[in-house]
Amino acid sequence: MVWDKLGLTVGLEVHWELNTKEKLFCDCPTELKNEEPHFILQRFMRPVAGELGDVDVTTKFESGKEKKLIYQGYHDSTCLVEMDCEPPHNPNGEAVKIALTISLLLNAKPVDEVHVMRKTIIDGSNVSGFQRTMLIATNGWVLTSEGKVRINNISLEEDSARIIDNKSSMSVFRLDRLGIPEVEIGTGPDIFSPEQALEVAETIGRILKSTGKIKSGLGVVRQDVNISIKDGARTEIKHVQRLGQIPDVIKKEVERQMLLIKNDTKINEEVRVANIDCTTNFLRPLGTASRMYPESDIYPIKIDKKLLNEIAKHLPESLEKKLERYKKMNLSKDLAEQIIKSEYVNLFEKIISEIKIDASIVANALVNITKDLKRKNMPVENLNDNHFVEIFNLVKENRLTKEGVSLVLEKLSLFPFKSIIEIVKELNLSPISENELENIVKIKIEENKNKLTDKEGAIKFLMGLVMKDTRGKISGELVNKIVRKNVEKIFK
Ligand SMILES: [Zn+2]
Repeated sequence: MVWDKLGLTVGLEVHWELNTKEKLFCDCPTELKNEEPHFILQRFMRPVAGELGDVDVTTKFESGKEKKLIYQGYHDSTCLVEMDCEPPHNPNGEAVKIALTISLLLNAKPVDEVHVMRKTIIDGSNVSGFQRTMLIATNGWVLTSEGKVRINNISLEEDSARIIDNKSSMSVFRLDRLGIPEVEIGTGPDIFSPEQALEVAETIGRILKSTGKIKSGLGVVRQDVNISIKDGARTEIKHVQRLGQIPDVIKKEVERQMLLIKNDTKINEEVRVANIDCTTNFLRPLGTASRMYPESDIYPIKIDKKLLNEIAKHLPESLEKKLERYKKMNLSKDLAEQIIKSEYVNLFEKIISEIKIDASIVANALVNITKDLKRKNMPVENLNDNHFVEIFNLVKENRLTKEGVSLVLEKLSLFPFKSIIEIVKELNLSPISENELENIVKIKIEENKNKLTDKEGAIKFLMGLVMKDTRGKISGELVNKIVRKNVEKIFK
C-alpha cells in the first residue's frame, strides 16, 4: 500500500511501568500479588464536571453504565491511598528521577515546575475516578530511518488497578497495580508508515531499557496508537500489548476506515481497543480537554537545576559507545548491533559481568539461538534470566559445551520448571574429553577401514559418523581436527 497517498498519519503513546521500590504516591511495594485478597471494597461511579464546568463526553458515556465496582486489596501491600481514603503523599523521588533521565535521553526539555493533575477515568480502574499524572518534559525527538519524530510530552503517572473480572453489572479490580509509577511518552503526528511506527516504538523501548529502571515482563508496557487517513477520522487504538502488533493494528484500522469511506459511511472520532488478532473494537468516543483538572492535595514541585545536572552527568551509555565496547569484546559489528537491539541486552550485560566467559558465545545464544527457536515456534518466552545464567555457568565450568547450549534451551523452553542438569543428562550432552574423542575416532576408523579409499572422502565420511555421536558434547572444530589428524596417519 502507498501510505503517503492515503495520507496516513500516526502518533504513538507508550506507557511503561518503572521499577521503583515504592509506588508513586504511597510507600506500598510495586509488586503484583496472586494470592487471595485480604479484603474488598465496593463503589459506584458518578460523573463530575471538569475545570471548565462541563462534563466530558467520555465521562458521560462511562457513567451511563451504572456499574458496581469491587476492589480487592491486601493489608500488607495496599494502603488507604489506593483506596482513596487518604490524600496522596508527595510523588516518589526515585520515579521523578527516572522520568527526568528518560526525558534527557529523549532529547526533551524538562519543565521548571511539575504540577500533578487529575485525569478523569471512570471505567472503574481508579478508585478515585481519576488518574494522577504530571508532565515532566516536552519537545524531545527520536531519529528513525524515515526521519525525525517529535516526542511531544513525557509524563509520569500512576498505573490503574488491574481488572480481574468484568461483567455487565459488575467489575472486579485488584489494587496491587494501582499507583505503580509509569511513564507516558507521546510522539508528535510525525509517523507516516506502519513500519516507521514499529521503529519508533522499538527505539523508545531501547532507550527506556538502557536506564535499567523499567519493569520487564508481560503487561508492563502498553501502546496506544493514534491513526488518521485522508477523508477518515482520528481514532485512538488502546492497549496494544506487543510491539510487533503495531504495524498490523495500523494496517487493519486503515482497511476499516477505507471500507467505511467506500460505503459513504460517516467515520467517528473514537477510542478503540486492540484485540489479540490486531483487529479493534469500539470502546468510547474520543475524550476532550475537560478530562484534566489540578490535584489539590499536592504542591507543585520545582525541578532542581542541580539534580538535573547530576542526572545529565550520569546518563546511561549511548548506543554508539556501547557498540564500541562490545566490539572490543571481540563481537563482530553485526552481532554487537543485534545484541544492542535485542530484548536481551541487559541480560547480556549481567552475564558478561558475572561470569567470565567468551562474550561472543553469550551474544550468539541470546541473539541467534533464540531467533532459531522462535522460527521453530518454540515457546522462548518461557526462558527466564536465571535459565540463561545457569546455562552459561555450566559452560564456564565445562559441564556443557557451547554447541550443547541450543539443544538445552530448546528443551528448557518446553519444560521451564525442569532442572537444567537433568536436561543436560537426558540429552546426553555431558562434555567428553579430547582423549575420549580420540578413542571414538579410532574405533570408527577401525570399524570402517575398507570404506576409506581416499583421504578427503574418508575425512568427510568419518566427520559425519563422529559428529552424529558427539554433537553437543564437544566442539565441531575439534572433531574436525582429530579426524583429520587420524586420517592423515592412514594416507601418509
Ligand atoms: Zn499504598
